[in-house]
Amino acid sequence: MTSHAWINLAYLAASMLFIVAFKLMSGPRTAGRGNAIGAAGMAIAILAACFDPKVTGAVAANGAWPLILIGAAATIGGSIGATMALRYPMTGMPQMVALLNGFGGAASALVAGAELASTVAAAGGESASAAAQASLAPWSQFGIATALTGLIGGLTLFGSLMAFGKLEELKQFKKAWTDPKRHWINAGLAIAMVALLVAVCMAPERQFFFWLLVAVGCTLGCTLTLPIGGADMPVVICLLNSYSGLAAAAAGFVIDNSVLVIAGSLVGASGLILTAIMCEAMNRSLVGVLFGGLGTVAIADGDDVYAGKIKSAAAEEIAMILEGADRVVIVPGYGLAVAQAQHAVRELSDVLEARGCEVEFAIHPVAGRMPGHMNVLLAEADVAYEKLREMDDINPTFAETDVAIVIGANDVVNPAARTDPSSPIAGMPILDVDKARTVVVVKRSLSPGFAGIPNPLFAADNTLMYFADGKKAILDLTAAIQTG
Ligand code: NDP
Repeated sequence: MTSHAWINLAYLAASMLFIVAFKLMSGPRTAGRGNAIGAAGMAIAILAACFDPKVTGAVAANGAWPLILIGAAATIGGSIGATMALRYPMTGMPQMVALLNGFGGAASALVAGAELASTVAAAGGESASAAAQASLAPWSQFGIATALTGLIGGLTLFGSLMAFGKLEELKQFKKAWTDPKRHWINAGLAIAMVALLVAVCMAPERQFFFWLLVAVGCTLGCTLTLPIGGADMPVVICLLNSYSGLAAAAAGFVIDNSVLVIAGSLVGASGLILTAIMCEAMNRSLVGVLFGGLGTVAIADGDDVYAGKIKSAAAEEIAMILEGADRVVIVPGYGLAVAQAQHAVRELSDVLEARGCEVEFAIHPVAGRMPGHMNVLLAEADVAYEKLREMDDINPTFAETDVAIVIGANDVVNPAARTDPSSPIAGMPILDVDKARTVVVVKRSLSPGFAGIPNPLFAADNTLMYFADGKKAILDLTAAIQTG
């Protein structure tokens, strides 16, 4: 077998490992194994790339330098990635994932730019390569793939940076950009994008058009992401994830690398599926999220919603209510991740179950700050997967629930989504905890959640507020039940 055949075989093996990894990652029990298999696939792909004829050709021409540069880049990039992963708190994972998506897009755009530059160089001069000249022909596969990679890569990079700012809740990014002029700006950018796409496809050798297209992509990344606020961010996160995969797949066509095409397509397709799931979970259309006017609605004043209606309780009072409960539903939200209360919550559920109470967990698809956030946290604390019930499944059971304990969740239990058509989250399906006999809400204050709106649930007749840090609150509650 030739070395080329071995490399293709290695790429095939890596691609198969990626597919198996994706399958395993779809279930919490097998996700860890899936991750390890995906990493093994990536290691094989990187090793095979080092023996790719392009790299070995460059080594033959320039000595060991290309390999040394690849090794240095991998070591520096790997060290930065490992340090970030170890240092970043678990609650910052969504922001980190947003950054990684963005870097993926940037890498794809840079690969396309570098390949374009070397193809243009190879197509000129006395020893012009016929293959390079064919690549630069109008509407060649190379030209189309290069244009798409630059556009999607730039859009992914800047869209992800804006998403990072929003998830990090930086002041400059928190508020949605709702200036009506943005539609005109986007229309202008869309026209420029189409014109430049055509220009790059028709004359790939004009590298200036390519970089201008990248710049338009970067600007569109900002102007399309900045207006998105409130509870619609999950859709954008999934979409950007998908874009990073599409950019990688397109880059695979640019450098003729099958494993990049397959891995990129897998990420692109799974991101699109997740986007569709998120849109459905939030009862939104993708076009509505991307071009809608979120933030133009009036946001109710918290004082009007809460004044004189808040009842708070301490651990001992809540423990007494729980003692008489036959069925309890625990509703985790972003605050559970902040408080790292997952283990405390598992203990509470064990104690309640030991007393003959039925305990289930209600999982909203956009709870937390990344898809599957709550599942990951609860799996970490060994909460049995059968006890995690999805929204549609558990909502009809709230009417028969004695106590719903909401821990660090806010937007996903906000009844305004059902009752107030002018609310920014109007129409978003929520967990109907307000239908339980008693609702206990554990949070530190009356501060709003990610969508920045007050929550009438806190002022409802059947709601008791338990103001404390999530972990401390649950540990105290468990202790009160045990000593009670
Ligand atoms: P929210 O963001 O609505 O609310 C979280 C609540 O947790 C806050 O009100 C906060 O109140 C409380 N909290 C914070 N720290 C603690 C703590 N240490 N102890 C106890 N409580 C704490 O969370 P939800 O999960 O209900 O909703 C998720 C929101 O994030 C939705 O709007 C969703 O659209 C959005 N989003 C989701 C993404 C996803 O993919 N899942 C991605 C991006 C955004 P207080 O400060 O008073 O304690």
